[in-house]
Amino acid sequence: MIEYENLRLVNLKLFDKYKESFDTFLQSGWFVLGSQVAKFEEEFARFNGTKHCVGVASGLDALTIAIDAFGLPKNSEIIVPANTYIATILAIVRNGFKPVLVEPDIATYNIDPNKIEEKITKNTKAILVVHLYGKPCDMDLIMAIAKKYDLKIIEDVAQAHGAKYKEQIVGSFGVGCFSFYPTKNLGALGDAGAITTDDDDLAKTFKALRNYGSAVKYYNDELGYNSRLDEIQAGFLSAKLEMLDDITNHKRELAKLYLENLEDRFVKPIVHEDYFDVYHIFNIRHEKRDELKAYLLENEIKTEIHYPLAPHKQKAMQGIITGEYPISEEIHNTTLSLPISYFHTKEDVLQVCEVMNKWLK
Ligand SMILES: *Cc1c(COP(=O)(O)O)cnc(C)c1O
Repeated sequence: MIEYENLRLVNLKLFDKYKESFDTFLQSGWFVLGSQVAKFEEEFARFNGTKHCVGVASGLDALTIAIDAFGLPKNSEIIVPANTYIATILAIVRNGFKPVLVEPDIATYNIDPNKIEEKITKNTKAILVVHLYGKPCDMDLIMAIAKKYDLKIIEDVAQAHGAKYKEQIVGSFGVGCFSFYPTKNLGALGDAGAITTDDDDLAKTFKALRNYGSAVKYYNDELGYNSRLDEIQAGFLSAKLEMLDDITNHKRELAKLYLENLEDRFVKPIVHEDYFDVYHIFNIRHEKRDELKAYLLENEIKTEIHYPLAPHKQKAMQGIITGEYPISEEIHNTTLSLPISYFHTKEDVLQVCEVMNKWLK
């Protein structure tokens, strides 16, 4: 059986380092927001080339706190892609703002920059982009629109640690919101997240907000959250970060094999010199996606669907999101995510390609 994911195998090489880190953690007697968190924040800021990194409890919290920190007026509207994981939109809704969905580009699966301007109103205050599947968005166009209309840029980097647009790492264009959920490219051994920025004041606000809105202990200047990063996770993340380039290179190699060996009748991810993809997910599209998925399973290959139901179709979003998003739906109905984890081998990928190409005949 070729599994889709196996987190024990992904982390196997780090077991000794994790055990060492756990020992240090246990002996320290300090369990939240301590020296391990400060160390990881410094390392991850350096990795991203940003001035600050603030650790939080999850990717959703990173997004929620990032939006909150701007102190936007009531009735603010935030532009967001129509096809994303629900967390991106939830962070806007939880802040009491209106998510304004923009259709993706069917070639990149990311927000279509040419469809943003028509959605801008006097209430639009920010663009929340998502570097979906590990492919960077077209940031030149997006940054130009943000400048023209004086909009904040928030980046959902949950799937794109280390991805680059024209040599610039994502998460450094605006405020970068990261998830370290165990399955992500930089995954912890539990929940964790972080926010990156070059802005000193914003970083201060993030730090206060994650800890009950308090910069000075027991004095609460803002309505904060309990969203602190655990020392134990920060220690594990420091160890994992040393391996991230390795993980990225491995995934890029596997992606290359898929791209070379899969028949062109599968719609494959586009490759372009502007994008340094990190392939958190390697997807293909096909009209008969469900049949293909079943066939692969019969042949002992597990796949996933990211995602089966578009956000505007979710029960929780009824009455919140209006409008039609046919491109987003088309993607949701035809996309299939193939095995591309750190533990997969070239042989695994060639096997998947062989079975898939056989299915076409
Ligand atoms: C995983 C993910 C999130 C949420 O991260 P959590 O750590 O699970 O809260 C947000 N956005 C995207 C695109 C994701 O893939």
